[in-house]
Amino acid sequence: MKRVIVAIDGPAGAGKSTIARRIAEKTGFVYIDTGAMYRAVALWALRANVDLSDMHKLEELAKAAKLVFLDGGAGMELNGENVSAEIRTPEVASAASKVAAVTAVRRALVEKQREIAANASVVMEGRDIGTVVFPDANVKVYLDADQDVRAKRRAQDLIEADTAKIAKEIADRDKRDSSRPDSPMMQAPDAVYLDSSGLDLDQVEEAILKLIRDRTSNGKEIH
Ligand code: C5P
Repeated sequence: MKRVIVAIDGPAGAGKSTIARRIAEKTGFVYIDTGAMYRAVALWALRANVDLSDMHKLEELAKAAKLVFLDGGAGMELNGENVSAEIRTPEVASAASKVAAVTAVRRALVEKQREIAANASVVMEGRDIGTVVFPDANVKVYLDADQDVRAKRRAQDLIEADTAKIAKEIADRDKRDSSRPDSPMMQAPDAVYLDSSGLDLDQVEEAILKLIRDRTSNGKEIH
């Protein structure tokens, strides 16, 4: 079977991780959460007290970071340490979006992302997968949802009662992610726009599986 790349981009809380993981399970493709990579570099920077505007130091960390996905992509190891829980805090999310604006950091992580997909079919989710990392991806989805729906989902994930606080955190992050000069978050011209606000997971999953079937030899390869 030829290598297949499924790119899922979109803002925070749109449901990318949940859906990408389910699609990977159904297809047998490798699930890659690229946000976890930016989060891991940000965690390292925070722990090492690196100034988030120090581009050279951030580049060094991104290049040196040994990033290994655990548990089928659900977890992340940084330099031999399991940091799956540590990278999920709002503080690390916010730092990740600052670190991710640095071109040299992106270059280092995009290289790692392309390496992972060199010999495997993947479901890769992030902000720039369909636009920059794999502009030739077989399937591109831009997954979106209303702002309040996304804030509620993210608050649930984090067991955080203060939805307004989470809403502000993701609004700030989306703004930074979509306005940075290098690889801003945006829909690729040939991506399919999916609004998941009024859909349940099964419906979103089915819509994406159908796209994969349609775009890969009329479904002969994937069932
Ligand atoms: O997807 P997640 O919320 O884990 O991503 C954390 C941050 O990492 C994003 O807000 C964004 O700044 C950055 N990111 C990125 N490009 C990607 C994936 C994530 O810039 N492909």
